[in-house]
Amino acid sequence: MENEKQLYLTTLNPLLIKPERGLPGAVAVIGAGTIGPDIGYYLKSAMPDITLFLVDIDEKPLQKAEKRMAAYAQKAVDKRKMKPEKAAAVLNNIFYTQDYKDLKECDLVIEAATENIPLKQKIFEQIENIVRPDAIITSNTSSIPADRLFTHMQHPERTTVTHFFAPAWRSLPVEVILWEGASQETVDYLFWFFASTGKAPIITGNAICFVLDRIFDNWCNESACLLELATASQIDKVAEEFVFAGPFFVLNMANGNPIIVETNTLQMEEGAHYQPAAILNSVDRWATHRPGSEVDVPDDLRQQIRDRLLGILFSQSFDIIDRGIGTPADLNFGCQVALGFKKGPLDIMRDLGEKEVSRIMARFEKERPGFPQAQASFSDYQAFYRYLLTDELDNVRVITLRRPQAMNALNDDVTGEILDVMQKDENNPDIKGFIITGYGTQAFSAGADIGKFPEMLGDKDASVQYAKDCAKVQLHMDRMAKPVVAALNGLAMGGGLEVAIRCHSLVAVKNAALQFPEIGLGILPGIGGCVVPYRKWPQGAALFHDMIMLGKPIKTQDAADIGMINQLVDNPADLIATAIAEIDRIQDAIPRITEQTVDVPAFEIPEQPMAGKQALSMEAVAITAETVKKGAAASSLEESLEIGYAGFGRIACCEAAKEGISAFLQKRRPTFTK
Ligand code: NAD
Repeated sequence: MENEKQLYLTTLNPLLIKPERGLPGAVAVIGAGTIGPDIGYYLKSAMPDITLFLVDIDEKPLQKAEKRMAAYAQKAVDKRKMKPEKAAAVLNNIFYTQDYKDLKECDLVIEAATENIPLKQKIFEQIENIVRPDAIITSNTSSIPADRLFTHMQHPERTTVTHFFAPAWRSLPVEVILWEGASQETVDYLFWFFASTGKAPIITGNAICFVLDRIFDNWCNESACLLELATASQIDKVAEEFVFAGPFFVLNMANGNPIIVETNTLQMEEGAHYQPAAILNSVDRWATHRPGSEVDVPDDLRQQIRDRLLGILFSQSFDIIDRGIGTPADLNFGCQVALGFKKGPLDIMRDLGEKEVSRIMARFEKERPGFPQAQASFSDYQAFYRYLLTDELDNVRVITLRRPQAMNALNDDVTGEILDVMQKDENNPDIKGFIITGYGTQAFSAGADIGKFPEMLGDKDASVQYAKDCAKVQLHMDRMAKPVVAALNGLAMGGGLEVAIRCHSLVAVKNAALQFPEIGLGILPGIGGCVVPYRKWPQGAALFHDMIMLGKPIKTQDAADIGMINQLVDNPADLIATAIAEIDRIQDAIPRITEQTVDVPAFEIPEQPMAGKQALSMEAVAITAETVKKGAAASSLEESLEIGYAGFGRIACCEAAKEGISAFLQKRRPTFTK
């Protein structure tokens, strides 16, 4: 918590910031080498109407960049990820130039030229002489602290480092560096700006290599040091337990040897132990395998490599947290989303346990003396929310589900954390209510991870128990004395929608959508989804029939018309203020779900039920319809919920569920036979 407050001066959810300036109209990217054009493509695809200047001292990279941008847009169109009109707008208004004077009207300039301090300083001097005094200027440096680049500028307050990850047009995280010369307005603005344009920014301290390159560069450097003991392929193979691709494979993808030597040399200011491995100076391409290939690594060698890799990973993680360079949540998140780790370093530690982590670190100290060790207890490094951002606004606890890489889908950790936040603040007199919202602009929550469910197929009791275990947050909200409002910032589906409808009120941005897609997988929404909507909004029964039995998505206006959504907002920036007003409105009269039987119209099962173009299972639809009917007839909420869990247990044992879940896991369309 302490380093959250040090780094996040305003809010943890960037979209809660109300910036004084809007989105830029003209942006420049300086440097059209490896990453510059990718940053440009991200900017144009997020904001097709802006003017983009791509600047280089050399003509060749500019020509290559133009071709690259066109190829990206074409690929997006071919894959139907972008409409041709949008692709045309993305490629329109891009100026490939060698003339800095063109940048006069830019609101934002992002420098991505060669990693060299004097060269970058010169570029910034040039830019500052051309752009307006309030234009924001940033550097995409991988390692150079902001003060070394910007201290001597006339207006350092509008400068900082904004560090992207390859491929910059797609990779979500961007590090925004908090340094003493930048104004809070600049840091806040950039934090908001990146989130508004589809990125997942994180704030880091102004240390050499910031957060994620401390991990990546040292992970690669340590791997290079290990070449004294093993081959690149063996080291990659051992690393694959923790990452999707080993360090040498990744280095090859980035043309063999990106700037590890430079960055680790810079880190030597913190101690000689950071010295880059000599071999990095003489190799451009590493002899390694494609991830997943069979490679023989003898057991004792595997153990030795594994311990060293974990040693460097944990050492850097402790150091980042202890020095307040980044928060544990961002470290965990960034390693997974930007660096390809299967689990965050703190999750790996949690899985191994305190004793094993201590053993690894003691060995690491012996083999690699000088590297940072833990300064706090094991449990201190585990005491953080992995998936939630929690802010306080106007005495309201705003809970943001942050898993943008999975459209904020729920899992056991996420729901456990929501419950924990609520329980902690229920008796806090400074908190009058809660808002649950999703990170970013796309999704509130697109459902729940499939998790352990496949193991339960065919086991009725286990499936019923599973549904009950997943329902803890919902049951808790039913009894809460303080109001909870769901603020739908985007898509709410499946398990995510089951959380939203149990909140005491819903508000939404107009372009959000609501859907129970479960039936398409041959299952049903078992955590209240089949019974709660009818009890809360019986006037919407016909709509709910189509949603639950046929997987039909509904628009927010339809939900508002039946009273399911209490307030719709046109402008997403108004969503949280509207949710706070809703908390005040229901403060003294929290609506509760009826205990009474509800009347629902009969559901006629079509001859061939369809969800869009997907033919559904007759058997699954029939079980779902029966569950809905019985749930409505139940004479208490508890009884109806039990009917919902039982329906889930029943459907989990039918053929359709087996086929639906297998098809989902195999990424194909299901074929239901009955
Ligand atoms: P690169 O060497 O591929 O490209 C650098 C480009 O800058 C070249 O085209 C060069 O002609 C141009 N350039 C040099 N001096 C210039 C000047 N005065 N004005 C305009 N252009 C000039 O380098 P890169 O890999 O694209 O990296 C650029 C920056 O981004 C570096 O600071 C690097 O640390 C950082 N970075 C790179 C990556 C990556 O994946 N490549 C990731 C994160 C950060």
